[in-house]
Amino acid sequence: MQSISILGSTGSIGVSTLDVISRHPERYRVYALSAHSRVAELAAQCERFNPEVAVVGTAAAASALSAQLAARGLRTEVAHGPEALCAIAAADGCDMVMAAIVGAAGLASTLAAARAGKKILLANKEALVISGQLLMDAVAAHNATLLPIDSEHNAIFQCLPPGYSRALAPHGVEKIMLTASGGPFLLRDVDTLHQVTVEEAVAHPKWVMGRKISVDSATMMNKGLEVIEAHWLFGAPADRIEVVIHPQSVIHSMVSYVDGSVLAQLGNPDMRTPIAHALAWPERIASGVAPLDLAQVAQLSFSPPDMRRFPCLELAYDALRAGGTQAAVLNAANEVAVQAFLDRRIGFRMIDQLNHRVMDALPNQAATDIGTLLEQDAAARARAEAFITQ
Ligand code: NDP
Repeated sequence: MQSISILGSTGSIGVSTLDVISRHPERYRVYALSAHSRVAELAAQCERFNPEVAVVGTAAAASALSAQLAARGLRTEVAHGPEALCAIAAADGCDMVMAAIVGAAGLASTLAAARAGKKILLANKEALVISGQLLMDAVAAHNATLLPIDSEHNAIFQCLPPGYSRALAPHGVEKIMLTASGGPFLLRDVDTLHQVTVEEAVAHPKWVMGRKISVDSATMMNKGLEVIEAHWLFGAPADRIEVVIHPQSVIHSMVSYVDGSVLAQLGNPDMRTPIAHALAWPERIASGVAPLDLAQVAQLSFSPPDMRRFPCLELAYDALRAGGTQAAVLNAANEVAVQAFLDRRIGFRMIDQLNHRVMDALPNQAATDIGTLLEQDAAARARAEAFITQ
């Protein structure tokens, strides 16, 4: 029996994780759950999974949750704030941590899990984008295990040889091929992208996801963040990470070897597959995902991405090549821009323009400590906000 803390349990990944866990009560026990503000959903999860601790964002949300748990006769301990998140990520009572908070808000708790030597199921790609070197160092120094949940990285992990050591050449790896659906605007006239509405941007053709990552998929910033994530997870330089548009989302990514072999992982687009894979690794467990019917899929197609349509992808490659604090700056600018778009304060095309302007405005620095990265994150958010209000 393994115990798990699920950070971001009320989100899309959190709910899918609980779904997989509920299929294997003999293997997994929930130690802690967390939400930010969706208290009613968290209370319902506590009733079903009976965790020892539940964490929310604010004191007000904590009192609301305590009242709802008391009304149900539950004895789950309630805590709030970033320190409480770090505590449930590092607690002796949990063996594994699902890091599924969205955005930079997930960074501190993911680092705490690494420093406590936990098995980390990493959905929160932003943590790696901001602090790749520091997070990978913490994982190595504290003997933690980092397993990718992002379907592309989980696919790559499955296609790499066991014992892969974050270096391509010794394992005969030529390049990593990240597949991308292309999102809802793959075929839309580029000249009409400025008219895109929030409703159109969050309606992903293949995946059901949270709002932030859905907008990131529409701009392909999500794929850009994944390129940076792949760099840190697998030790691949930018020119060995290729993005391939594959609208059917059946091949979740591929690894190309020097002998000409290309290994791919296939499956229906459902996050419960990578979640189940990482939960049970190196074993396999049922996930609830329907088997893949290739005859029904019938066709798999591929094309290169058009950087004019998806400038955010190019920006991510630029940030990765620049190194230092640029990826943290891009991530922070993008979080502000996406939220402003979701709040209908800026148009869709302003997202890439804002990201570009903030990257140009802030001088790159060496990313040697978390303090510098957080300072640059804050500076980028302030600069993005200033550009929006201008
Ligand atoms: P959601 O928006 O659906 O859920 C986010 C979760 O984080 C919720 O539980 C939310 O709480 C909580 N949260 C939000 N803001 C804060 C904060 N400031 N502090 C603490 N907790 C917070 O996101 P997703 O599940 O879609 O994505 C989560 C992560 O996984 C992201 O990094 C995303 O890029 C990654 N990912 C997601 C995939 C998907 O299919 N959804 C696929 C691959 C990666 P509340 O509900 O109360 O707001």
